[in-house]
Parts: sequence; structure tokens; C-alpha cells
Amino acid sequence: VTGGEPVTVLVVEDDPFIRRSLEKVLTLAGYAVSLAADGRSGLRAVHTERPDLVVLDIGLPGLDGWQVLDRVRDLSDLPVLLLTAHGAEAEKVRGLRAGADDYLTKPFGNAELVARVQALLRRGRAGTAAPEVYDDGVMRLDPAARTVLVGGADVRLSPTEFRLLAVLTRNSGLVLTPAQLLDRVWGDPSGIGPERVKFAVLRLRRRLGWGDPGSSPIQSVRGIGYRYRPSA
Ligand code: CA
Repeated sequence: VTGGEPVTVLVVEDDPFIRRSLEKVLTLAGYAVSLAADGRSGLRAVHTERPDLVVLDIGLPGLDGWQVLDRVRDLSDLPVLLLTAHGAEAEKVRGLRAGADDYLTKPFGNAELVARVQALLRRGRAGTAAPEVYDDGVMRLDPAARTVLVGGADVRLSPTEFRLLAVLTRNSGLVLTPAQLLDRVWGDPSGIGPERVKFAVLRLRRRLGWGDPGSSPIQSVRGIGYRYRPSA
């Protein structure tokens, strides 16, 4: 992190012990920390505090983490690190499908939490540095402005979705394997692997209005990977 404004992490967690411990760990790591104890105040804090990243617990009273994630994703491309309950493996899959950028299963170590937060913040910045505008007449992706237009209409993408689309279009016509995509988009091939890529592709297609895989420019090549190929 370069000088100037502090990087703010918003923690949305109802368990006071975990909330305090996250606050302490993140403060020690040099972040400004905002806290919210339920989903509704968490969403409010997204607007008022303008955090650079959200650490979001799934099990929250009232508005739960899924609902918060949905609303955050509708409004912004803020990186979201999801906290899932121990033993709830299905939550990981659901979380990635819902547009979380990463997840951690409770209980987790402090060092791991900080490493994940740092990685997500780095990715967010890396995404803004990419240079060339891609335009095939159907889809226009401007890496500097971080905008995507499909048929002239603005499409909002999460940082991960944006990077995925940028990598696919930079390699337009070429098939990329899940391992290549994990490496180039997520920067960490030690995640949950091809499943992560699969759900990100499904979600990206839906975002772009290309939900039908048969006619989508983002093609699955069975047994190999994915390719971006705009229809003529
Ligand atoms: Ca909880």
C-alpha cells in the first residue's frame, strides 16, 4: 500500500468475539477497520464508509450474508471475502457462485486472513493497471476505466469477473485451461480449482446476458477449458 489514504476494511460479523479479533488483526496489519454487527448496518457502512474490501460473515441476523453479498454485487465491484461456517462445504460453492471473490472457513488463522485480504486488494489494483481496450463490436472492455459495455449497455462486474473477462478477451480465440485461468485471474492456483473457474464463467455469462452457453461468446470446450470467441 502506497502512502495517502488508509485502506479501509469493513468487517460484517455478528459474533462480538470474532469481530473484535478481526478488528485487532486487521488494525495491526495496517488497515483502517470499520465494524458492523448485522447485515443491514453492514450494507449501510458500504455506502457511508466506502471501504476498499469487505470481510463478510454468512450467518448474520436479519439480512444474512447472502443477501448482503447480492446487494453489494448489484451496486459495486467491491472485493468481498466471505467467512463460512466450519463444515459447510456447500457454502464455498454457493459463495463463489454468488460473486464472492474469496472465502475463509472458520476457524482460520490470523496470518491466513491477512494474506487473503492483501491478495484481494492487490488483485483489485492489478485489474486497474491493464492497458488495452478490447472491442469486437458486441462487447467493449476498457481496462483503464474498468468498464464493460455489451451492445452499448454498461455491465457491472465484480473484480474477479472483470479480470476473467479481460484475460479471456486478451486471448480471444484461444482455449485457456482452468489451471491457466486460475493462475492468471486468481493469481493463486491453490484454491478449490476448476470448480471455482466453472462458477465464475457461469456467473460472468449471466452478467453479460449470455446465459445460454450455446450462443455465448464465452465458450466451454469440453475437457479442455474456455475460450472467448465473438460471433461474426
Ligand atoms: Ca455469524
